[in-house]
Amino acid sequence: MPGHVIEVKNLYKDYQTAAGKFPVLKEVNLEIDAGDFVAIMGPSGSGKSTFMNILGCLDQPSSGEYMLNDQPVARLQGDRLAKVRNQTIGFVFQGFNLLARSSLLDNVALPLVYAGIDKPKRHARARVLLEKVGLANHVNSHPNQISGGQQQRVAIARALINRPSLILADEPTGNLDSKTSEEIMALFGELNREGITIVLVTHEPDIAEHASRQVRFLDGKIVEDTRTAPIAVKGAPHV
Ligand code: ADP
Ligand code: MG
Repeated sequence: MPGHVIEVKNLYKDYQTAAGKFPVLKEVNLEIDAGDFVAIMGPSGSGKSTFMNILGCLDQPSSGEYMLNDQPVARLQGDRLAKVRNQTIGFVFQGFNLLARSSLLDNVALPLVYAGIDKPKRHARARVLLEKVGLANHVNSHPNQISGGQQQRVAIARALINRPSLILADEPTGNLDSKTSEEIMALFGELNREGITIVLVTHEPDIAEHASRQVRFLDGKIVEDTRTAPIAVKGAPHV
């Protein structure tokens, strides 16, 4: 029987600073299952981004275990780590992280360049994904020609390009107004209903309500883990 998508056991993370060892995550335990839609909450500085970076295999814990799809990844390095990351996880960031000089098509297709896939195939797949996020009419636009909400849709399309089973998003609506945030959350909800496991950070309760599980960090520890029914999608997601 397959286990959890994410299983974190007794995880600690310290940063070394001039003043010495600075503990950021302390004895964190968490299991996330296929199809979960998790909102990570908690005040600024509570360790949310540090935790997300470890979940995304962008950083390593100081101690403890991290199993991703039953594979121990906490101490994987180099190509083996990159392979697990690229094949499993799609990342979405607060600042969109798009290339200003590239078209939306090229932005979405970028991860396939590293995979050695030829341009016609890259563009065909990117076009499908831009359509999926409601940007079929903008494939040749550049990021500065579209709104912030549309830029985040492009980033989500890019995150989907390798058909990830897991999306990690650190404050994906942090730069967006509340209406646009709702639309982006509706899109995440749609992806979740298609079977993608989603873990995102937000400190806004209204945004967290779109998820079906709320996990709260305080001072480097998980202090709350609640399951709720996700709120109904309001309005059309692609408007
Ligand atoms: P959050 O995302 O919840 O705001 P972070 O995980 O970014 O929290 O940060 C948690 C704590 O760790 C903060 O006190 C922050 O200053 C500290 N921190 C984050 N990254 C580093 C780093 N690279 N080196 C030292 N301290 C760090
Ligand atoms: Mg953060």
